[in-house]
Amino acid sequence: ATPTAVMVATGMGASHGVLIKGGDALEKAQNVQYVVFDKTGTLTQGKAAVSTAKVFAEMGLGDFLILVASAEASSEHPLARAVVDYAHHYHFFDELPMVKGATKQIREDILPEWLLEAINFSALPGRGVRCLINGKGVLVGNRALLAENGVIVTKEAEDFLIDLEGNAKTGVLVAYDGTFIGLLGIADPMKREAAVVIEGLKKMGIHPVMVTGDNWRTAQAVAKEIGIEDVRAEVMPAGKADVIRSLQKDGSIVAMVGDGINDSPALAAADVGMAIGAGTDIAIEAADYVLVRNSLEDVITAIDLSRKTFARIR
Ligand code: ADP
Ligand code: MG
Repeated sequence: ATPTAVMVATGMGASHGVLIKGGDALEKAQNVQYVVFDKTGTLTQGKAAVSTAKVFAEMGLGDFLILVASAEASSEHPLARAVVDYAHHYHFFDELPMVKGATKQIREDILPEWLLEAINFSALPGRGVRCLINGKGVLVGNRALLAENGVIVTKEAEDFLIDLEGNAKTGVLVAYDGTFIGLLGIADPMKREAAVVIEGLKKMGIHPVMVTGDNWRTAQAVAKEIGIEDVRAEVMPAGKADVIRSLQKDGSIVAMVGDGINDSPALAAADVGMAIGAGTDIAIEAADYVLVRNSLEDVITAIDLSRKTFARIR
């Protein structure tokens, strides 16, 4: 393609909300064989919300929620925000009806009043969080986090968890003072266009892949909903780039679509990195394309644009 053709394509992309960072990226997209999608915030809406909370200890649901929210309050993770929001809703919007409809700012102003003090907080990527509350250790996260700390999850709870995961929900487990006390189920709805886009890619001869730090059962349930057969689950944050490199081994051209800080090494490792516009700055920086409209349809727009621009000179 001539420099003019590249300029025209770049302009056309921009008018569709597809920002292309240079001619190289534009050229590579036409040959993409794999598109690897991050799950949370990329295929899903990133609007995680608690759908179930169950206590497996001598403790009321209200106290359980305060404890979990206090541990998660310092975390930026979408799951943590869902938990804090839910606990907050439970304590204020359900118990004090007059606060209903309060703005987010007002909610944030009253938030600290009911949280317990959490000290020695640490976020464990791909696992959850840990801290001390009332001098006792608190763990909030996945099975791996509890298992690593020698916490035993009851059979009854494990069955409940398996059921949640089979329904595409993420389970968040809670331990207090070394004992499992309960869990929450968190749902994050799929983007509405996800299934159509996956079907479209397959028709273009492109192989869709989903990569996630989430557990196998939830990941499979989500992938099935939208027609992705190739799933890489329980991938640690650093492992996403390894997934890209393993697909590239036989010379395949691989695109990565992601939104999070976690995704930026994979976006950089991919032949074509595409960041969701609503994603974090670090992801946008690492990418070759920015999908400003946050629509997955623009993954197809981008590949199409490249194919059309370079088809003429073949
Ligand atoms: P993703 O690929 O979905 O962005 P992450 O690597 O951020 O996944 O997290 C992987 C898993 O680690 C989550 O599905 C969850 O089980 C657990 N996890 C991470 N952070 C938290 C947290 N703050 N609270 C609860 N669970 C967490
Ligand atoms: Mg994400």
